[in-house]
Amino acid sequence: MIGSHVAVGGGLVKVGLAEADQIGAEIIQLFAGNPRSWAPGAANPAADEAFRAACAERQLPVVVHAPHLINLGAPSDLVLSRSLAALELTLQRASDLGAIAVVVHAGSSVTPGRRATALAALPNLISPLVDRADPEVRLLIEPTAGAGESMASTIASTAEYLQAVNDERVGLCLDTCHLHAAGEDLAAPDLLDDLRNIALIHVNDSRDPRGSHRDRHESLDAGTIGLPTLAAFLAHPVLAEVPMLVETPTHERDVALLKSVKRPTPV
Ligand SMILES: [Zn+2]
Repeated sequence: MIGSHVAVGGGLVKVGLAEADQIGAEIIQLFAGNPRSWAPGAANPAADEAFRAACAERQLPVVVHAPHLINLGAPSDLVLSRSLAALELTLQRASDLGAIAVVVHAGSSVTPGRRATALAALPNLISPLVDRADPEVRLLIEPTAGAGESMASTIASTAEYLQAVNDERVGLCLDTCHLHAAGEDLAAPDLLDDLRNIALIHVNDSRDPRGSHRDRHESLDAGTIGLPTLAAFLAHPVLAEVPMLVETPTHERDVALLKSVKRPTPV
């Protein structure tokens, strides 16, 4: 399943699904509101229902990306409580929209030396949210590019994060640009051996060199990763049945390019 992030600013069906149809997306991701604001957009039951019906008709799975301000590792009680409220609302909006998952960034412990404390707090933050959420909507943690005190970016730090969360209902969304920026060699054959619960891949090239800790997506094969390395990453057998989507400047071109990449046969 290969798809794309789509903009839905002008209307879920009118703009979002129009783009999905145009580019041949088999899965889409969207923001349920302004990604740089705490509150997702207000629910509009009629528009939500029209969107759900149109997606069902197309058998098109939908993923909702949570706002960027959410930080599950924040030392500030205010930021943490706002983060939890925003994530809960996003899970609710995802349910309204018939989405299968919500993607949220792993977060940052902000102050050097706080990582262990922030990791230890995760189960009490995340599991109660998942308990209350629609069981049809899976929460996926996305490791970031590794800037500052990011809590999960490399494969090792991501495995630790998931172990700290300790909730089998929570999955992973890996982003190729982020892993590359965090310093990982995407083509390493044993790269994913220590990770479980990979539920989604964001396939993006990077504008910056490996290990840069910068999160600037580039069109596929136009950045510092390149298509051969992306293809080697996608050939990991554990990813054979994992859906993937692009968050690049050129959705239509990159969906077509990804569809041409040879994938392993599911075991
Ligand atoms: Zn991403």
